[in-house]
Amino acid sequence: MVETKCDLCGSDSYYPVRTVQPAGDIKMRFVKCRRCGLVYANPRPSDEIIFGRLGGGMHRGTRADALAVLNTLKSIRKSGRLLYVSCADEPFAAQARNAGWDIVISGLSQAAGARKYPDNYFDAVVIEAVIARIPDPKAVLEELRKTLKADGILYVNCKAGDGAIYYFTRATLAGLLDNCGYFPLKINGIAGLFRGKVEAYCRKARKLEYLDELEKPAYSDRKDGARIMAVLPAYNAADTLEKTVADIPRDLVSDIILVDDASGDNTVEIAEKLGLKVYRHKNRTGYGGNQKTCYEKALELGADIAIMVHPDYQYDPKIIPELVEPIIAGRADAVFGSRMMKGGALIGGMPPWKHNANILLTAVENVVFGTYLTEYHSGFRAYSKKALCAVDFKENSDSFIFDTEIIAQLIAHNLKIEEVPIKTRYFDEASSIKLIPSIAYGLGILWTLLKFWLHTHTFVKLRQFK
Ligand SMILES: [Zn+2]
Repeated sequence: MVETKCDLCGSDSYYPVRTVQPAGDIKMRFVKCRRCGLVYANPRPSDEIIFGRLGGGMHRGTRADALAVLNTLKSIRKSGRLLYVSCADEPFAAQARNAGWDIVISGLSQAAGARKYPDNYFDAVVIEAVIARIPDPKAVLEELRKTLKADGILYVNCKAGDGAIYYFTRATLAGLLDNCGYFPLKINGIAGLFRGKVEAYCRKARKLEYLDELEKPAYSDRKDGARIMAVLPAYNAADTLEKTVADIPRDLVSDIILVDDASGDNTVEIAEKLGLKVYRHKNRTGYGGNQKTCYEKALELGADIAIMVHPDYQYDPKIIPELVEPIIAGRADAVFGSRMMKGGALIGGMPPWKHNANILLTAVENVVFGTYLTEYHSGFRAYSKKALCAVDFKENSDSFIFDTEIIAQLIAHNLKIEEVPIKTRYFDEASSIKLIPSIAYGLGILWTLLKFWLHTHTFVKLRQFK
């Protein structure tokens, strides 16, 4: 028996809640952490007792339990490589195999001991009735996180029973998962003290401190020799088009597509003179509507990667190699140039009110999307063919909101997004949104967030995110 601190928050301040006698002469005192509310055995029984005598009386899950978990997993991730961690011979493994998962089974001791799987290897990890029965759930969850792909899913459940040395509630389980770099999508169950069951479905959270890890290539193919196209949604861009096009690195970009949204100036003439592939809207549709045509044409022409470049020379096209690199390396499905990383926007001369409004909206978006992007409003983006084919971008608005809606769609499809820092140039020629339209834009974004939240948290399923 060893005196221990709270595994979740590290506090040593607690009060006793109950003493139980799970087997024979073993007595365990459970305490509750004053800081985070975690209930744990303190002093902690020795490993010999935990894995030996307490490890025997496992509760078997039922076949129905297993099917319920598999059904929910299927709604998030269709199939792939699944790691099943359990201390008993539960019916889950057989059912998962039937459901088409490529399953690897790991016992409790292996989970707690040395890790033997590569990084970014599993599409799903299922931990059944383990977390409450091992001394260091945090360490195990952190280890398993590394083996999970960036878009992988974790399922974990904690059943109350004789072998448990922790009792998790929805709140403390959510706290533990958050602590270990998971973003809970759904937490079910009611756990009273010493009874019931809680379970959680999580995504691997994108946190800044994990960016290094995300940058390691996953087990997907590199897209060397990919056909890269620049798409220019243009509206009255005659003055800046030529210098924008001059800065696009042609050794990398095979085709430049310009979609003219019924400009009043000679944008089209200049574009044709420059040898671009030009498409024309008869009537003005808006910035989102223009992008729809851009991506449609890029896909028709066989693009593997489409980069949106604003022809107003606000963004620097010379950054294109950095922008497409994460897609070529197979790490990301979409890459955004971020003006907010490393204070780029202020250096580039973004007005302060706009900078602050951008920070506020970004915070709200990060909370709702459960991501950690530094900016959602960038007009400099690269999308893989996979991303453009997966999301139904034609369902989006024809306005500026399109840029936020497509992010919501990417996240709803579990596609990977990366950011690279860029500088923008602000000057009179460059189109920028003024105050009143900015407010309308902000409200439009909040509406998108609400729709996304309803789609992911309720039974309301919106076509836009399917
Ligand atoms: Zn605590």
